[in-house]
Amino acid sequence: MTTDLEPVPEDWERALIVVAHPDDIEFGSSGAVAAWTAAGKTVHYLILSRGEAGIDSMPPEKAGEVREREQRASAEIVGVADVEFLDYADGSISYSETLRDHIAAAIVRHRPELLVGYNHHDVTFSGKWNTSDHRNVGRATLDAVGVAANRWLGRDPSDGDPSAADGDELLWAGIKHVFMAASPNPTHAVDVTDSLDAAVASVEAHVEYLAGLGLPEGAARFGLEQLTSSVAERFGDRPAVPFECVDV
Ligand SMILES: [Zn+2]
Repeated sequence: MTTDLEPVPEDWERALIVVAHPDDIEFGSSGAVAAWTAAGKTVHYLILSRGEAGIDSMPPEKAGEVREREQRASAEIVGVADVEFLDYADGSISYSETLRDHIAAAIVRHRPELLVGYNHHDVTFSGKWNTSDHRNVGRATLDAVGVAANRWLGRDPSDGDPSAADGDELLWAGIKHVFMAASPNPTHAVDVTDSLDAAVASVEAHVEYLAGLGLPEGAARFGLEQLTSSVAERFGDRPAVPFECVDV
């Protein structure tokens, strides 16, 4: 049984999107990002690895550079100027308190009202086994919400004393909504009628990555149209990208 999807709320100004790899945002969510930035909202990306193990024919030390460059170009297409990479190793991101705290520190830096993570479940949107990087980063993203808001957790002593008079600046408890992209259990959606072309272009900006996958020309548009039209059945016949609301 399927139920209708609710619109993702728009009562926010700043969003932070946290994913494991370059391209995680483009295969699904970037249409929503383009719609948000077109409406004047600010979106930041935090990407835990450079996706350096993602091109079979290219050694990681070269692929990391290529994929970072392609990700920055892709972000620019959908109105995102700020893309931050952390130096986690693609394919080997374990869950740890350090990972959680690094994400919490980014939450404090960017002060988002909307936090978007990437599928933390065992299976993907299409029912396949999800990767450990996605599961671990997704779960750490959800756990980071509480850490960012807790004076006594996850603090770097060099940042200052959280119990001092101005200690609240080291925290962020202003997240209103948490959504997970690419979830097998979507509850909400964003209309991408006007932003689908930007979403396609943002996927196609991953030029060398897509070439490495050997996808035929037009594959990005075909894939995104398939996704967004499948969601439309539950969203008033509007092409849309799905998200799962998580009550954190
Ligand atoms: Zn990924």
